[in-house]
Amino acid sequence: MRVQIPSRPKRKLGQNFLHDENVIDKIIRFIQPSPSDYFFEIGGGTGALTHPLASRVKKLIVAEIDPDLIPYLSAVPSVTVLKEDVRKVSICELPESKSWRIIGNLPYYISSSILTALLEQRDCIQDMTLMFQEEVAMRIIAPPSDSEYGMLSVLAQYYCTVQRGFRISRNSFSPKPDIESRIIRLVPRPGKRLPYEQYAAFLSDAFSQRRKKLRNNLLRTIEIAADRLDLIFAELQISADARAENLSADQFDALYSRLKP
Ligand code: SAM
Repeated sequence: MRVQIPSRPKRKLGQNFLHDENVIDKIIRFIQPSPSDYFFEIGGGTGALTHPLASRVKKLIVAEIDPDLIPYLSAVPSVTVLKEDVRKVSICELPESKSWRIIGNLPYYISSSILTALLEQRDCIQDMTLMFQEEVAMRIIAPPSDSEYGMLSVLAQYYCTVQRGFRISRNSFSPKPDIESRIIRLVPRPGKRLPYEQYAAFLSDAFSQRRKKLRNNLLRTIEIAADRLDLIFAELQISADARAENLSADQFDALYSRLKP
């Protein structure tokens, strides 16, 4: 299969099409599709990933917002095409399965908000193999105390097991983006039931002033007496001097559960 590139790619829709067949093969091997899998693809484009996946899986649904690209995707045998903004698609309401495998070479201008929407729908997701700008991927996989570690890392690592994939050169895309990309896999962790919105709001407070002590950020943003907060920190063996960036996703889970019973 030779990948097709439209004559006028739309930068405002984050259109950087994969054209390197070796990289496409490598991505498909990383995904490890199987004939019993139900896949949902985000931003199908002209079908660089849609084509090789379609013949290997039980079902493939692809969402694409650009009407000019729909004919490319409709030409792929046995694929269901949704002409929609992926942020409006309810994965849990897709037909036939309650456990979708998600893939996407994401439009970078909305990659974080797509990840948020996916994390909120994690109950209907088996795994997600997603391509991000290198910088965003590094924020998602960063370990505690790393300079890139922040709210996005904690949310992703609390709700999912995160696997660092491989880097993809900007030369593999047309048009060539300004930065490198990285593919990562996220697998929802069972039993992680904290409500997304409230938890994200709490983390936003915790990271509000990164360089300040977490204790002080919390005293400023939530209603709690200092001595009670100090006691909870001591019980959870969190240093009074810790900054938000020093806590692991599981420590944040324990802290939130104590503060918001
Ligand atoms: N999958 C193709 C590939 O790898 O060559 C295209 C990837 S390109 C980086 C991102 C695709 O997402 C584009 O086709 C773009 O039109 C589409 N897209 C952008 N915003 C979207 C949205 N809100 N919902 C669905 N698709 C979107």
